[in-house]
Amino acid sequence: MPFRTPYSRGAPLGGFEELEVLLVEDSRTYIAALKQRLEGQYGMRVASCSTLEHLQSVLGEAPERFALALIDLNLPGAPAGEALDLVLSKNVPAIVFTATFSDLKRTQILSKHVADYVLKDGKDAIKNLVKAAIRILSNRGAHILVVDDSKTMREMLGEQLLRQLYRVTTVASGAAALEALEEDDDYDLAVINYLMPEMDGLSLVEQIRQRRNFDRLRIIGVSSLEDRTLIARFLRAGANDFLHQPLGIEEFRWRVAQNIQTTNQVRHLRELAARDYLTGLYNRRHFFDDGPHRVTMARKHNQAQSLAIVDIDHFKRLNDTYGHEIGDVALKAVARHLADLCGNEHLLARLGGEEFGILICGLSFVEAREFCETLRSSIGQILIATADGEINLTISIGLAEIATEEVFDNYLHAADQFLYMAKHAGRNRVFSEADVGNKAVA
Ligand code: GH3
Ligand code: MG
Ligand code: MG
Repeated sequence: MPFRTPYSRGAPLGGFEELEVLLVEDSRTYIAALKQRLEGQYGMRVASCSTLEHLQSVLGEAPERFALALIDLNLPGAPAGEALDLVLSKNVPAIVFTATFSDLKRTQILSKHVADYVLKDGKDAIKNLVKAAIRILSNRGAHILVVDDSKTMREMLGEQLLRQLYRVTTVASGAAALEALEEDDDYDLAVINYLMPEMDGLSLVEQIRQRRNFDRLRIIGVSSLEDRTLIARFLRAGANDFLHQPLGIEEFRWRVAQNIQTTNQVRHLRELAARDYLTGLYNRRHFFDDGPHRVTMARKHNQAQSLAIVDIDHFKRLNDTYGHEIGDVALKAVARHLADLCGNEHLLARLGGEEFGILICGLSFVEAREFCETLRSSIGQILIATADGEINLTISIGLAEIATEEVFDNYLHAADQFLYMAKHAGRNRVFSEADVGNKAVA
């Protein structure tokens, strides 16, 4: 069984509002500047202590409420780093900042397992400290898989990464790693040792790459072997980076941090590419990327699905009468309502113009039709402010049941046919296979 950290899955990046940070500092100017940034800019809560006594009393009750501590190493009355020791003894992750810094001090601080250290000099000191805090707190959103047959190494690496607030899963073999990746697709990085019995690190990387691309999972190979060809062999097999053991603590941290940063950037770009600019909904490309996958998964689990195409009625007329800007306002309002009603269960996208696609998941065909009726009547309630006062919109929906295995396009085509019938029958209605007999309405 893989070992897991207790951190919640998928902590949102940038979601700092719930967090409380402990600031241990005696300079009022620093406290004010840091509070202003962390509270004002990021919405965190900041508790500050300027003496060791105060710190002792604050940490005496529920120290686990602090996500991170920022500690000035030179606190009056605590010249030997007592504040840091106290904070670490309560298992609160800590970033140290200090005005004086020697190589010896750096080694001492790092050996205490602080999350990071920042120099308190120059005009950028506050900025750098805030940046370090945000970087460490953002790590909570990243999930790292450590694969090493040595228990000591697994624990050492796991410990290092936990200090950086990453979510960590450690496994002892290639087979267990593949199983963990199969189970969970939220991993951002795998750290893989070379020498392991049964499946070595290189074979594991090759196997992983058959399932996960570079842009989904980064891989760092590690080995204590002197053989320099290993670096090339790891990279050729599909690793992104390589580290020699014994690992320098800081080097390990920064390599991990940079690899995670890359996955975050790629994820951000992928998210941007999947979104429609005007409405913020998923776009057509994403609908066609994700839709077929969802259909396959649903069929595997015997889950009912249907596909709906929603189209705003007489939208051209609205544009012509009130202008394109009002048209945009209306589109955004419809998009927002659809998104609220679809939640995370159904896959919603703007397919283009004033047309939206919904892959309705987990509802029987009868329920899906009722759901579409709800969409139709709710959208009919929206009021759009125009020069002539508030106006209503109506939508027509074509609904196709996903009953047999076909290419995704076919489902869309069927829904489109029903949409056409809905329009032909007078608009502001849902049309599906069940309604074909009522075509007389047309
Ligand atoms: P029907 O009831 O048959 O669907 O009629 P319709 O007028 O809604 O359909 P038609 O396809 O003729 O017109 C769609 C209009 O949507 C035409 C186009 O100018 C407008 N449109 C497409 N994209 C946008 C957009 O991003 N913003 C705005 N304001 N209008 C858009
Ligand atoms: Mg239309
Ligand atoms: Mg249209």
